[in-house]
Amino acid sequence: MRKVFDDYRALADNVLRPDEPRVDKFVEAMGKSLKKENWTFWLPYVLSLDYCMKCGTCAEVCPVYQASGRREIYHPVKRSEMLRSIYRRYFTLGGKLWPGLVGAKDLTEDGINALAESFYRCTVCRRCAYVCPVAIDNGLVVREGRKILDAIGIAPDELKDSGTQIQLKAGNATNMGTAAFLDIIEFMEEEIADTWGRQVKIPVDKKGAEFLLMHNAGDYLAFPETVMGAAVVLQAAGVDWTLNSPATGINDVVNYGVFFSDGELEKVLRAQLKTALDLGIKTFVVGECGHAFEALKYLMQRLIPAGERPFEVKSILELEAQWIREGRIKVDPGKNREIVTYHDSCKLGRLGGLYEEPRTILQAACQDFRELVPNREMSLCCGGGSGFAIMAKGDFLKFRMETYGQLKAQQLTDAGAQVVALACSNCKGQFREIINYYKLPLRFAGVSELLANALV
Ligand code: SF4
Ligand code: SF4
Repeated sequence: MRKVFDDYRALADNVLRPDEPRVDKFVEAMGKSLKKENWTFWLPYVLSLDYCMKCGTCAEVCPVYQASGRREIYHPVKRSEMLRSIYRRYFTLGGKLWPGLVGAKDLTEDGINALAESFYRCTVCRRCAYVCPVAIDNGLVVREGRKILDAIGIAPDELKDSGTQIQLKAGNATNMGTAAFLDIIEFMEEEIADTWGRQVKIPVDKKGAEFLLMHNAGDYLAFPETVMGAAVVLQAAGVDWTLNSPATGINDVVNYGVFFSDGELEKVLRAQLKTALDLGIKTFVVGECGHAFEALKYLMQRLIPAGERPFEVKSILELEAQWIREGRIKVDPGKNREIVTYHDSCKLGRLGGLYEEPRTILQAACQDFRELVPNREMSLCCGGGSGFAIMAKGDFLKFRMETYGQLKAQQLTDAGAQVVALACSNCKGQFREIINYYKLPLRFAGVSELLANALV
C-alpha cells in the first residue's frame, strides 16, 4: 500500500479507497456532525472546534507525540487542526466568503487520506484533555472525525465488518456459537479444578440472577484465566450469578462503536440491553474490559432513559473490592509473592473513574504491590485503546510498539515489576505484544486472576 500520511497504514486500500471522490460526502457528513442531533458529545465537540489557544500544553503529555521524538505530524493540535480547517472553510461565514483570510483551504482527496490515517494514530486516551487549560479534548475531536469517516464508508474492517457486524449477527465478535461456548465452559471448569483445586460450577443462561457477568468474548479464547479467575471469585463470594451463551442474544461486552460510530454503538447497546432484560437480571456486571465499561455505564445513560434499563451496571472490579472490604471473601497476599504493578486502563481510569478499586484488590491480594509512575489520571496509554489492540495490518503493529509501546516498556522496566496486573482486554492484547517485542522479563495477569490465586 502506498504512503498517504506516514510510514504506516491503519486503513487498507479497500477501506480508504484513496482515489475515489469523497470530498462532497465528507463535507456533508461533517455538517451533520455539527447538529445537535449528534447525541454523544456534541457540545464539547463544537467547543473544541471553536477554541484552541495553541499553547501546546497537550503535546507535552501526548504519548504518541513524545515517543515519536516530537514529530509535528503527531502533535495533538496538528491533528485536530485537520478537522478544524475544514470546519472553518465550510461551516463559518469567514471561511465561505474569504477562505484565505481565515487560513482555510479547500478539502482535497489527499487531505481526506491524510486525515483518515492521522485519526487512527491517536488512541483517544484523553490524557491531553486533563492538562488543557481550556478543557479542549483532542481525543474527542478524533472520535468525531472517525464518525464522519465512517459516515462516508471509511472504518477499519477489524472494528466494523469483523467487529460490530459479526457481534450483532452471532452474539459475539468472535463468531462463537452456543455449542462451542458451552464446550469452553466445561473445559474451564476442569482447568479451574487443576489450577486452583476448586470445584466450580459455572452457571450459564440462568434467568433472574442477581448478577449477569458478561466478558469481552475474546477473553474466552485469548485470556481464559480472566474468565476462570472471575468464576472462582464469584463462587467464593457465594452470590447468585450467571454467564450467558449466544442462545440468549449478545454474550460479548465489547462495543467497538465506541471507537468510530454512534450508530454501531447504539445498535450494540440496545442488543445488550435486550439480552439483560430478557434474562431478568438485577445487575449487569462488566468483565475486565475498559471501553465496554464506558459504553454500558455512561454512554447508555445518554441513550436510554433510566426507566427502560431496570438494572445497575457495575464493573467486576467494584464488586471484588467491595467483597474484600466487607470480608465476604478472604485473601492471603502470601499466595502472590511476585512484585506486582498495575496499569490504569484509560477507559477504566480517566473515563470510568475506577482508580481505587483495582488497588484495593491488588494491595490485599499481593505481597509486594508497586505503582507505575505516572499513574491514575496521568497514566500512560499502552497503545491498545480505540481499537488498536486488534489492528495489526501491514506494519501497524510496529507503529503501536515503537510509539506507545516503547514508553510503556520503559515504564515497566523502571518499576522493576515481575507481573503487570491488567483489567482491560484491549490492554492485555497490547501488553502481550509489548512484552514479546521488547523481551521484557515479566508477565501480565488479570486482576481477577490474581485475586483468585489469593483466595483462602
Ligand atoms: S492544551 Fe488545549 S488550548 Fe493548548 S494547544 Fe492543546 S488543545 Fe489547544
Ligand atoms: S487522546 Fe491521547 S493519543 Fe490522542 S492526542 Fe490526546 S494524549 Fe495524544
